[in-house]
Amino acid sequence: MSTGNHYLGLLDRYRDRLPVSPDMKIVSLVEGDTPLIPLENLSRAAGHDVQIFAKFEGLNPTGSFKDRGMTMAVTQAVHEGTKAVICASTGNTSASAAAYAARAGIRAFVLIPDGKIALGKLAQAMIQGAVVIQIQGNFDDGMRIVKEMADAGPISIVNSINPYRLQGQKTAAFEICDALGRAPDYHCIPVGNAGNISAHWVGYSEYAGVKPRTQSCAFCTDTCRFERPAVVSNRPVMVGYQAAGSAPFLRGGPVDEPETVATAIRIGNPQSWDLAWAAVRESGGWFDELTDADILAAQKLLAEREGVFCEPASAISVGGLLRDIKAGKIKPGSTITCTLTGHGLKDPDTAIKQSQGQVLQIPAQTDLVKRAILDRL
Ligand SMILES: *Cc1c(COP(=O)(O)O)cnc(C)c1O
Repeated sequence: MSTGNHYLGLLDRYRDRLPVSPDMKIVSLVEGDTPLIPLENLSRAAGHDVQIFAKFEGLNPTGSFKDRGMTMAVTQAVHEGTKAVICASTGNTSASAAAYAARAGIRAFVLIPDGKIALGKLAQAMIQGAVVIQIQGNFDDGMRIVKEMADAGPISIVNSINPYRLQGQKTAAFEICDALGRAPDYHCIPVGNAGNISAHWVGYSEYAGVKPRTQSCAFCTDTCRFERPAVVSNRPVMVGYQAAGSAPFLRGGPVDEPETVATAIRIGNPQSWDLAWAAVRESGGWFDELTDADILAAQKLLAEREGVFCEPASAISVGGLLRDIKAGKIKPGSTITCTLTGHGLKDPDTAIKQSQGQVLQIPAQTDLVKRAILDRL
């Protein structure tokens, strides 16, 4: 389709840095190109002359960053002649897989955990025609089963263990550098299965013309594009945040019964363990954890002070950053990007629950409504 200068999605825009060949039929929902929102109120409140930006990945077509990886993974899967895709998911991967499979005219099988999935995500997978398999177990159980099914037939796994997923996701780092004219000083990001922090590090490294030291990774084989010229001269410090009840990177190993209100990162056995550690170590960064109360407070703060409504899991990046600024771990004058991984509308239940008491119940009488308003001006 000829469209002049119309943006056509990230595989089209960053084609020369992705494993996209001319004979591939791109499966796209015109994902990517998400806004980098300056958080001016929170930056001012944080002091220390910091500039905080939110990369709002909730504004991708299915409402999370998963679309970046899914366009690449499904494009590759269709190119290989697959008949279906399968994934384990805490919700957003299944919503994204279902959408791109629908687009490509193939089937999607999604394994979701028992009960602990935000309603919006389930709705997406269902209406987009995925076969939704709810297992009596958590994400890690689903992931194990999906891996054991790898040789079941012409069916592609589209979890982030699929290297094409991370290739697509690295473009978020490209976009940030393109917007800022350089890489940020710090990049703060939620960590669940740890694919996204790994993909960002690859993206930043590639744009800086530096090959990451970890050679054990799937990137450094045929999907790599490190022969491309550098665009920026710096790389950020990578900071990964986990929910306290689901923090294997803080515990030093898998967590058996992960628990958190931030269901998108309720993962006890991250698949990109080595890559994520490499990102943090090579960049001079760190992992830290936040309690559920702090996560919800950050979600509310972003919504109230900046008008940005993201998922609980996403807000952890901003909550963690603000705490680290206060603790003096962030150098004054720094430019920082926080990934807001998913949209708040994915999980309206949690938002309403934590906003209880904010709805005034008043009889339908103008004088009473007027008084309620004047009392609050
Ligand atoms: C998938 C997801 C995460 C976690 O990303 P990983 O790559 O698994 O670390 C965080 N937040 C949201 C909203 C997600 O959908």
